[in-house]
Amino acid sequence: RAYTELQTGLGALARVQEVLSLDPEDDDRPARPGTTTAPRLPAAGDPTPLLELRGVDFDYPDGTRVLHDVSFSVPAGTRTALVGPSGAGKSTLLALVEGFYPLSGGSIRWAGTDVRDLPRSVLRARMGYVEQEAPVLAGTIRENLLLAAPDTPEAALRQVLEDVGLTPVVDRSELGLDVLVGDDGVLLSGGERQRLAIARSLLARPALLLLDEPTASLDARNETLLRQTLETAARDRALLVVAHRLSTVRDSDQIVVLEGGRVVAVGTHDELVETDPLYRELATAQLLV
Ligand code: ATP
Repeated sequence: RAYTELQTGLGALARVQEVLSLDPEDDDRPARPGTTTAPRLPAAGDPTPLLELRGVDFDYPDGTRVLHDVSFSVPAGTRTALVGPSGAGKSTLLALVEGFYPLSGGSIRWAGTDVRDLPRSVLRARMGYVEQEAPVLAGTIRENLLLAAPDTPEAALRQVLEDVGLTPVVDRSELGLDVLVGDDGVLLSGGERQRLAIARSLLARPALLLLDEPTASLDARNETLLRQTLETAARDRALLVVAHRLSTVRDSDQIVVLEGGRVVAVGTHDELVETDPLYRELATAQLLV
């Protein structure tokens, strides 16, 4: 048994060393020497949008143009959905907002300031990003949550789990929040992993939550829980959600329809069903019309 434990320990050590040897992300200086102070964030109803894309073009390093002249804004405290066929450029757009790649043209503004004038840390401090395959650490639920905000009191952890519909998961085990996520503990479904990642993101109190909805099919219960989670999350912040299921975003304040890297329509669900053939087609295919 000691030998097995030693092997496990060595495996863990190798993984830690792998992480420690990674190069840190390039430095935090803004792309242009501009103002480096955090801009004052607009409140709901303010005329300055929280996020604004103006004529954004983007080519991947291999030269493929993926986004053409994309413009839209996300006012503080509102919900925007990005929809469109596979390959339309939705995930790429979220990556650009997160600052993973430089734009090929146009600009992105955060609270009125061009993001090239801001250190990434300023931007990311108020922006949460939950990717499609949301990473969940092989620790406990508590460890997964505390990663985002180490000093969070127990009551706040329980509240955020309630907000994302994960209370039944921690109640399943007598270990509660200290139940292991993974092979030895609670096996989380894809939907539960995504909601745990959302909970972790919410604890950092972002002003904007970027969410790439999983493409994998969710069962009806997990889909309802994701929809409810988004409603709760939207109470205190703006949301920009890439949606593959229109049912999760039909209540959004605005839906941006992308096709071939261009914005082809912007409106509410009801408006787009009336006016945009592509959106109507997507909605019809998903039995929403
Ligand atoms: P899906 O709904 O399938 O997730 P999407 O709308 O999110 O699709 P993206 O993943 O943003 O679309 O991809 C847009 C286009 O960019 C696709 O044609 C894709 O092949 C291309 N693409 C994505 N990542 C890269 C990359 N790293 N290098 C080159 N091209 C890429």
